[in-house]
Order: sequence, then C-alpha cells, then structure tokens
Amino acid sequence: MACRIVILGGPGAGKGTQARRLAKAFGMAHISTGDIFRSHVDNKTEVGRKIEEYMKSGKLLPDGLACGIVARRLAEADCRDGYVLDGFPRSIPQARELERLLAERGEALDLALNLDVTDDEIVERVADRWTCPVCGRIYNVKSKPPARKGLCDRIECAGAALIHRDDDTEDVIRRRLEVYHQTTEPIIAFYREKELLDTVGGADLSADEVTRRIEAVLRARKKL
Ligand code: ADP
Repeated sequence: MACRIVILGGPGAGKGTQARRLAKAFGMAHISTGDIFRSHVDNKTEVGRKIEEYMKSGKLLPDGLACGIVARRLAEADCRDGYVLDGFPRSIPQARELERLLAERGEALDLALNLDVTDDEIVERVADRWTCPVCGRIYNVKSKPPARKGLCDRIECAGAALIHRDDDTEDVIRRRLEVYHQTTEPIIAFYREKELLDTVGGADLSADEVTRRIEAVLRARKKL
C-alpha cells in the first residue's frame, strides 16, 4: 500500500537517518529537500547560487522556491508507491501547499512523525556530524564514527572523504534552531489537529531504538 509520511523535527534531530532507514525498509522513495537543494548548489546552477545564500546563513528558502522544487519531485514516477518526506514542509504555507498538491491527485498524507530532541542535544550532535558526499550516510565522530577516520565505510563509496556541511557550525545551527522554533514548529500543531501526528523522542534514545519505535507507530496505524 502506498504510504506517505512526513518526518518533522529540528535540524539534526535525526530526520535524514530515520527517513533513509524507513524508505529502505518499506520500499518508499526518500525525499530530502536538504539533499536536493545541496545538489543544486554543488551543480552551480543559477538557482543553486540563490539557494546557497539561504542555506549558508541558516535561513529557509522562500516558500515558493522550496514548494516548486518539491512539487516537481513528487510528480516523478517513484513517488507513486509512497514516500518519506524529510525536510518538507518546514512552514505552515508549505504544509498547506503539500495538502493542495496531494488533494490535486486524490491522495492524502498517512502520518506526520515528529522526532523530539532538545536544542542542546542538537547543537552538540550537529557540530560532530560528518556526511559522505557519495551516499549521504551520516556519521558522528563521538557516537557513530567511521571505521577509518574521515572516510566512508561503504565499499561502494571507495573510501570517499567525509565532509562537514557549511551550515553545521555552532553559530549557524543556533540560527537554524531559531528559525525552526519560529517557522517550523507550528506545523506540529497543524498535523496534531488533523490527527496525523505521532511523536518519538528524545535525546537519550539510540538511533536503532528510534527506528524500532517509528516502525511500531507505523504498524499500529496499520499503514504498512
Ligand atoms: P537538517 O537535516 O539538519 O534539518 P536539511 O538538510 O534538511 O537540514 O536542510 C538544510 C537547509 O536547507 C535548511 O537549513 C534550509 O536552509 C534549507 N531547506 C531544507 N528544506 C527546506 C524547506 N522545506 N524550506 C525551506 N528551506 C529548506
């Protein structure tokens, strides 16, 4: 059954890690707006240069720009069998636009899953976060270090050098948290009202435990 899930949570709450695992376990597309926007930046497209300014300073892209890119992605064939949206919506206008896009196709969201982690925990985690530029796997120098320092573990990535994102510095992360509380957090109430919200927390849980709890939530909702 096609299942459409939105993952919510502050920057560094673990959305990317959990979304990737869920998509793999249940055969759904994983749509990370952060990854899509970063690929525009890396490809140095015209829109990429504009996007880079927002991302580097920890600001959200304007809703129109973010929504347009997501709408095109959701129209692709692999989204027909369901998807996990990671990083979208990030504002009430984006949440409304997603509803509209779904309604246009006679579809609906099945679940909005909120990963609840405190600001202090996020600041600590993000400063230690390193990413493989090839496969997107996320490492943490303290809690999940790679086997060889600074290099991705996966054989397919042929020892790719891990990178630290430009927007993962403490100053920028504090700014992103502010933006999160102001603009993104209100969508938790939006989805609660629609009875689509479930929350899995908090900071003391391992990534594996969070995955187990998310899967239990999904099964309880009999969507998978
Ligand atoms: P994290 O995984 O730490 O939450 P992301 O990779 O999802 O970070 O996003 C990184 C940055 O990309 C955001 O700080 C923002 O600038 C931009 N971005 C991602 N998704 C959106 C969105 N839906 N609307 C506007 N900007 C976005």
